[in-house]
Amino acid sequence: MANVNDMMDKLVSLAKRRGFVFQSSEIYGGTGSVWDYGPLGVELKRNVRDAWWRSMVHMRDDIEGLDAAILMHPRVWEASGHIAGFTDPLVECKNCHRRFRGDNADIQGGQCPVCGTREAFGEPRMFNLMFKTFMGPVEDTSAVVYLRPETAQGIYVNFQNVVTSSRQRVPFGIAQVGKAFRNEITPGNFIFRTREFEQMEMQFFVEPGSDDEWMEYWKAARRQWHEEVMGIRPEKLRFHEHGADELAHYAKRAFDVEYEFPFGWQEFEGIHNRTDFDLKRHQEYSGKKLEYVDPTDTNKRYIPYIIETSAGLDRTLLVVLMDAYREEEVEGEQRVVLRFHPRLAPLKVAIFPLVKKDGLPETARRIHDTFKAAGINSFYDDSGSIGRRYRRQDEAGTPFCITVDGQTAEDGTVTMRDRDTLQQVRISADAVVAYIQERVR
Ligand code: ATP
Repeated sequence: MANVNDMMDKLVSLAKRRGFVFQSSEIYGGTGSVWDYGPLGVELKRNVRDAWWRSMVHMRDDIEGLDAAILMHPRVWEASGHIAGFTDPLVECKNCHRRFRGDNADIQGGQCPVCGTREAFGEPRMFNLMFKTFMGPVEDTSAVVYLRPETAQGIYVNFQNVVTSSRQRVPFGIAQVGKAFRNEITPGNFIFRTREFEQMEMQFFVEPGSDDEWMEYWKAARRQWHEEVMGIRPEKLRFHEHGADELAHYAKRAFDVEYEFPFGWQEFEGIHNRTDFDLKRHQEYSGKKLEYVDPTDTNKRYIPYIIETSAGLDRTLLVVLMDAYREEEVEGEQRVVLRFHPRLAPLKVAIFPLVKKDGLPETARRIHDTFKAAGINSFYDDSGSIGRRYRRQDEAGTPFCITVDGQTAEDGTVTMRDRDTLQQVRISADAVVAYIQERVR
């Protein structure tokens, strides 16, 4: 157990020290399980989000993007089943009044894990995880709205709008990235389970009967994405199929994509066959037809089945961060390095003048500017020894460092150092932008 905490403590401390993730409202003592992304974290998050969007939307002709609002008509949550069923069992310690999830392994046996009281808990009561607020100036029951606990419903209620405006034909998908909120009873493990988070969800609409095949397709596609686009080590990934007791009420089949975190194998993406449950329910509750009419055969009409891929952006970022973290010995010295795939690295390249004289800073800045103009996130650093500058970039996960030295003025070359192999090659300063461009795609 010490090891788990040790690893998490190291990661949380690196994340704070280097500006990846800060605790929300830290100067006020923090907000429960809400986190902010710092200068490097916001870049990493954007890169993960952009890579997902590119694979899901830009690289495909059969998926459209959407950005639905967080606040929705309250009937949406009746139709979806969230008002009645989006609950966790909650128990309270009769001595210290701390609250826990009733199915949490820590409270099995009836002893409070905080104060130690035996037989501390009564019967669990169901606790709805949706955040409630009021729309408009009147705070009464007629004005209650919810912060969405998942982005998917925004896609379902826009199904007909997208079909009509995009002229897509089934099978096709709608993708969306956005905030979701859950009033989790026991959040924790850093950004693994938080109360405010982002989801990257794609709903793929298919003809009933072809759903099993599409499920297999999306399982393979998502696994490939995590391995090849995110660069996650394959041996750290596995699928877990939901047994009958785990399946959600709407699901025919469900798989979790799991990563081996220091605290065990845990889900960070779900792939679900949601059948026609959602569109049927919205048709029933809204009174609007949500059928799909096949344009090649107008007698063929049906409510599509949905295969959903639902990943947490923050949780995927945690996977990326964990998977990249290494402690290594280099020339007798310990180094901490984040081996991000260059495509995800917050900074792609750092530029160092070897010394702060002889025109080296000016040349280095000129190279730095050419990277900026090419849209490549570059960092200029002229303080401390070169070794220390390398270590700082290793901790930030920067894949390439360029050093401008005395030879640069003579033959126009610079040193390019690779974060992972530590190899240094001399290349022409004119070629550095193309060199990096090729490797960060
Ligand atoms: P869990 O069992 O961990 O509560 P879930 O099965 O309820 O998750 P889904 O509703 O399938 O999760 O949500 C899809 C994805 O959204 C999850 O795989 C996860 O990556 C992300 N997610 C869900 N809840 C949270 C949360 N509280 N904090 C961060 N990410 C979350």
